[in-house]
Amino acid sequence: MVLAELGGSISRALQQMSNATVIDEKVLNDCLNDITRALLQSDVQFKLVRDMQTNIKNIVNLDDLAAGHNKRRIIQQAVFNELCKILDPGKPSFTPKKGKTSVVMFVGLQGSGKTTTCTKYAYYHQKKGWKPALVCADTFRAGAFDQLKQNSTKAKIPFYGSYMESDPVKIAVDGVERFKEENCDLIIVDTSGRHKQEAALFEEMRQVSEATKPDLVIFVMDSSIGQAAFDQAQAFKQSVAVGAVIVTKMDGHAKGGGALSAVAATKSPVIFIGTGEHMDEFEVFDVKPFVSRLLG
Ligand code: GDP
Repeated sequence: MVLAELGGSISRALQQMSNATVIDEKVLNDCLNDITRALLQSDVQFKLVRDMQTNIKNIVNLDDLAAGHNKRRIIQQAVFNELCKILDPGKPSFTPKKGKTSVVMFVGLQGSGKTTTCTKYAYYHQKKGWKPALVCADTFRAGAFDQLKQNSTKAKIPFYGSYMESDPVKIAVDGVERFKEENCDLIIVDTSGRHKQEAALFEEMRQVSEATKPDLVIFVMDSSIGQAAFDQAQAFKQSVAVGAVIVTKMDGHAKGGGALSAVAATKSPVIFIGTGEHMDEFEVFDVKPFVSRLLG
């Protein structure tokens, strides 16, 4: 189920409840069941959905609501709040400051959109007057070096990488060193991915992180990975200190539910979403407007 459909389904469930003459236990349960089904079809993790349903039921105690209460509004507000709660881990991520050097390491599986997102993130900040730089520490995927180099040339962003060196840790350290000397304020390290979660990948991430001491580790996740989102995000979080999430491919047939699961697994906020292949198809993510839009 794509995001717009999810929003539509939830809105419809709320609308149906509104149309009922009396809002009793059955009407509320039907409404919550419809919402639950929609969330599960959008690949939100089962436990999150179950907890959300329990929380809403606890908040909306129909017996306690006097006749004068607007039950419909209270239920709608509870659904809105619960969705926001899932997407808001309660603390903001580290935010780099313009003019002060920060190292940001990107991690994620191959194909998640990590390399593309590194450039988008750099370009976004460059347009705001930052001095970003890109380091290609992905020595696993053959085309990664050329891809990032081409992207950075197009965006006129300094780039560091090596065809010869096969040690990602050495490249990452050398690149970060170089750009610190050049007074770049946002040093972005692109790392290797693998098709699946593998011990070797996580060990490599741990080593790159230990050697470069990033101020922020961003986990990049393809929004269409479905129910695997929670485990995948958690696996990365266990090897490196993931502090923020970027969800890619929110255009197209994205199932948005994975975003909710990734936040829950990493206890880190979604900070941007990718909405296309182009460099500027990148949006700041804000929880409340996102949920408002979702619920129409
Ligand atoms: P990596 O292996 O994780 O570094 O992934 P890449 O950056 O090479 O991206 C894999 C594919 O996904 C490429 O074809 C990208 O153009 C595409 N891609 C990345 N982000 C987005 C996005 O937000 N929307 C769409 N539609 N495609 C994207």
